[in-house]
Amino acid sequence: MTVSVPNGRVLIVGATGFIGRFVADASLDAGRPTYVLVRPSSGNQYSKDKVAKALQDRGAILLNGLANDKELMVKLLKEHQIEIVISALGGATILDQLSLVEAIHSVGTVKRFLPSEFGHDVDRADPVEPGLTMYKEKRQVRRLIEKLEIPYTYICCNSIASWPYHNNTHPSEVIPPLDHFEIYGDGSVKAYFVAGTDIGKFTMKTVDDIRTLNKSVHFRPACNFYNMNELAALWERKIRRTLPRVTVTEEDLLSAAAENIIPQSVVASFTHDIFIKGCQINFPIEGPNETEACSLYPNEPFRTLDDCFNDFLAKMKDENMKQSDENTKQSNEIPPPKPVVEAFAITATCA
Ligand code: NDP
Repeated sequence: MTVSVPNGRVLIVGATGFIGRFVADASLDAGRPTYVLVRPSSGNQYSKDKVAKALQDRGAILLNGLANDKELMVKLLKEHQIEIVISALGGATILDQLSLVEAIHSVGTVKRFLPSEFGHDVDRADPVEPGLTMYKEKRQVRRLIEKLEIPYTYICCNSIASWPYHNNTHPSEVIPPLDHFEIYGDGSVKAYFVAGTDIGKFTMKTVDDIRTLNKSVHFRPACNFYNMNELAALWERKIRRTLPRVTVTEEDLLSAAAENIIPQSVVASFTHDIFIKGCQINFPIEGPNETEACSLYPNEPFRTLDDCFNDFLAKMKDENMKQSDENTKQSNEIPPPKPVVEAFAITATCA
């Protein structure tokens, strides 16, 4: 039996970012012709260049430009005969997608657009500010897509598998706590956690699936349905010791959100919405325009949170090893010669 490789050309916008990288890797893993839009310059040029180069080495075709440059996007979409556009623009540039949506409309040949969502159902969830502003922007993008009748899929993948630090936009880059746990409220509200690689993998499964056309796809893997108390217990089993728990109350999260420090306060408002208000679980998936990833792909397993926490354990051991190598190196080094002229203590004088 021959396995057919999907051949629709995919353009990923934001592939050098946190979520976009998972999507771009998954697109390449699936053997799809993958184009990546790289914007000319930004603060983290070095790491961005490294990611872009790694994707290129895996076969991605790099295109330069800005997603909000409508004319350029029209040209690129036409020239490269792009059929699927996936955006993973970050929270600060959600509205840059409006020009991209207009470009897709004007070309008229894109078969599916996935805007930058990758979280909750923004039409349902109602976080406090400043998270609400980001959701309003995501809603604005949704409304334009629908108005222009662009074929779409909205990915509502819930939380990324990690300890849900309330002040970190990319929590899976950080090892879970080693000194104490901060538990939100009474720690009993559950959420769904999805490995970054699975966010990429299942996103790519939806892009030409007729069952996901003009629908929101919710990721609700039963194996990764945890509350904070269970999450803490899981990590304690991995590190083989117990850690003290500190309660972060609803008021604490609301005041962290009210400080309006971007992006940390945005994360605090989402944390409040998830672990106090239960925004991931307070609705059934039953509308005509929504579906769920596990029921769509019952034979495709999700990585378990248990496995993801094993990765954190391995990372922690690695970092400890590097640190101890560094310490040994330093203690074996010959101390620098003493300065010939001793430094004099300088004391303040009143002239
Ligand atoms: P990042 O900030 O990490 O990455 C954003 C990417 O978009 C970068 O590649 C950036 O390029 C690129 N970009 C931004 N503006 C433009 C533009 N105008 N033209 C071209 N490229 C542009 O974003 P995240 O990965 O954090 O966020 C992506 C989405 O995922 C968001 O919708 C966010 O809400 C969601 N998210 C969900 C999480 C979850 O747990 N479910 C966690 C984190 C995010 P450059 O490299 O040049 O900066």
